[in-house]
Amino acid sequence: MASDDGALILPRDSAVPASTDVAIIGGGVMGCAVALRLAQRGVGVTVIERGIPGAEASSAAAGMLAPQMEADGPGPMLDMGLRSRALYPSLAVELDEATGIDIGYVKSGVLAVALTDDDDRALGARRIWQAARGMRLEALSGDAARAREAELGPAVRSALYFADDAQVNPRALARAFSQAAAAAGARFLQGRYVRRVCTQAGIATGVELDGDTLNAGTVVVAAGSWSGLVEGAGVPPSVVRPARGQLVAIETRPPVFKHVLSVQGRGYLVPRRDGTVVAGSTVEMVGFRKEVTVGGLAGILELAQTLVPALANAPVMQSWSNFRPYTEDHLPVLGATAVQGLVLATGHYRNGILLAPVTAQAIADLIVTGNAGFDLGPFSIERFARA
Ligand SMILES: Cc1cc2nc3c(=O)[nH]c(=O)nc-3n(C[C@H](O)[C@H](O)[C@H](O)COP(=O)(O)OP(=O)(O)OC[C@H]3O[C@@H](n4cnc5c(N)ncnc54)[C@H](O)[C@@H]3O)c2cc1C
Repeated sequence: MASDDGALILPRDSAVPASTDVAIIGGGVMGCAVALRLAQRGVGVTVIERGIPGAEASSAAAGMLAPQMEADGPGPMLDMGLRSRALYPSLAVELDEATGIDIGYVKSGVLAVALTDDDDRALGARRIWQAARGMRLEALSGDAARAREAELGPAVRSALYFADDAQVNPRALARAFSQAAAAAGARFLQGRYVRRVCTQAGIATGVELDGDTLNAGTVVVAAGSWSGLVEGAGVPPSVVRPARGQLVAIETRPPVFKHVLSVQGRGYLVPRRDGTVVAGSTVEMVGFRKEVTVGGLAGILELAQTLVPALANAPVMQSWSNFRPYTEDHLPVLGATAVQGLVLATGHYRNGILLAPVTAQAIADLIVTGNAGFDLGPFSIERFARA
């Protein structure tokens, strides 16, 4: 559109309605997935996203759905991860039907490998507690692992194979969630920043944007690493902090391996169906510095070559970084708060892609019925006050 003097006028992204049943702060996978599940129940939802829905951590992730590889032991995190992983096959079909977007769900399995004695011991401990719970896994010698994945390097001494762990393409997932939510009736205010959650006498009444107020019966905080920066959101900045992760995309043509490969605490390789290998990652507490560094890349690429020596000749296509919403105990922050009508869906750290489906279901159930369907106690913000 052009004004009388010929200057380009960009349309203001959608007008702010006077009120909404639920205002969701943040349009990452978490905000969009919650919006989808609420809109499907006939709830009026408005997602406020300061940039582009899904463009932060949710599009930057590696996309592993790997609760067995990730969990350090049995507990609420493992239970939630397994529940969410089980939701993915039907979610992939649902999102494809709703939007035409293939989220790239593949039950590729994860080979968690050992390169050192310490890795060996850690895998051994993991095998014992998971086997005791009847979880599906296989212990492999280095040679048995190489028989399964021929390009695995000679440095791999042993492995655990988690056949049920899987992967998605997070960028496609984020796009599909936002489009499905919009198709189900959720409203999106893009390019709008939430400054403050408004409250009156201990009850959330809406959100203050840059220049507008949106009244809401319920406010959901789904602002990822930035949750602590929204005034009145009930999330101290010390509770959810940014943990930078750097990633590299490597191209292989044709694909040279098919399982996700990981070394606990050091990194991973995620092979996509199209031959792209996503290699990661770092965990860095450097605030909101969105940089890719020489040291970060060097460590990632060295591990990539050790795991799959054939990658030495593969071209590097792209590198990027973003921020995992980190909490000290690595559990998300979910559910009701001391402020009536203020609900949290944040702090998913390195498992937000995995946990988005179950989080959305639980938060939508909590808002609509008052019952999340499972105990959100371990994920309550109250745990930080008690600590
Ligand atoms: C390198 C890396 C690798 C990862 N790998 C995996 C993986 O393999 N598997 C897995 O399960 N997870 C992984 N994760 C973690 C996962 O990406 C996150 O846990 C998840 O994306 C968090 O989703 P979110 O919606 O809470 O946050 P985000 O996607 O960051 O979305 C938050 C949104 O809120 C918006 N926002 C913030 N403040 C405001 C405001 N005041 N007003 C309006 N909008 C606001 C932001 O613009 C942003 O779009 C990885 C993360 C990284 C960085």
